[in-house]
Amino acid sequence: MLERKPLFPHVIELNHAAGRRIGCSVYLVFDGPDWLLIDIGYDESVDEIIELIRQLDFRLQGCQTLIATHADADHIQGMARAKSILKAPITGHPAAAEPLAKGDRILTFAEIAAQGIHLEMPPFKLDSLVNDGDVIELGSLKIEVWHTPGHTDSQLSFRLGNLLFSGDNIYRDGCVGAIDAHHGSDIGDFLSSLRRIRESDVEWLLPSHGPVFRKDDAVLDSTIARLEGYRNMADFGTCATGWPLMEEWDRELAQQKMPC
Ligand SMILES: [Zn+2]
Repeated sequence: MLERKPLFPHVIELNHAAGRRIGCSVYLVFDGPDWLLIDIGYDESVDEIIELIRQLDFRLQGCQTLIATHADADHIQGMARAKSILKAPITGHPAAAEPLAKGDRILTFAEIAAQGIHLEMPPFKLDSLVNDGDVIELGSLKIEVWHTPGHTDSQLSFRLGNLLFSGDNIYRDGCVGAIDAHHGSDIGDFLSSLRRIRESDVEWLLPSHGPVFRKDDAVLDSTIARLEGYRNMADFGTCATGWPLMEEWDRELAQQKMPC
């Protein structure tokens, strides 16, 4: 048996429980015998995660749902396997339903051919669709659903009291989840999601990668300012909304301006 070491009342994180990094953050939220998981990670770590849950003295039948924060393989590749073991319904955002049902390897980042990344993406059905403002009840706990698109269109966050399970919106070092046109990133939406987190009175952010950290408005402000810049940077390809250099060039071409 493993001693339960909740990070906060009702919240255990399974990399933390293992004392080593297994993969993405996997949060186990519990109230009495009832529990749920937020993300599961890669297929190859499902057995280890479930064994940890057993060792923490949770009955597997107590699993009320498996939540997909969004449709990226590093968070949900193991969902189909986890469901086959835990027999619990899977919850996620409607925008994630189709790519997950199809096991879409491009949208889920399972296939990045140019980098030699070719992962399996076992398809699964979302049994329960949730959207902004919905409340997931777990025992006496009420978990508020936030739709926080930007990294992907299906990105969810979950508020439990002063905690926000914040997905891939922001990490402790101020980095954010990858901005990539191939899986529905939108810089404007990302900024709205980050501003919503910034303006909220949550005190702790529980991200989908890396350590849990206290919400720090200065870090959020600097990340928001950085992403504001991305709107007009060619670095972000079709995710950028403009590229001021092209307007300058239009003027210079019309003026027949010579290099200077
Ligand atoms: Zn992601």
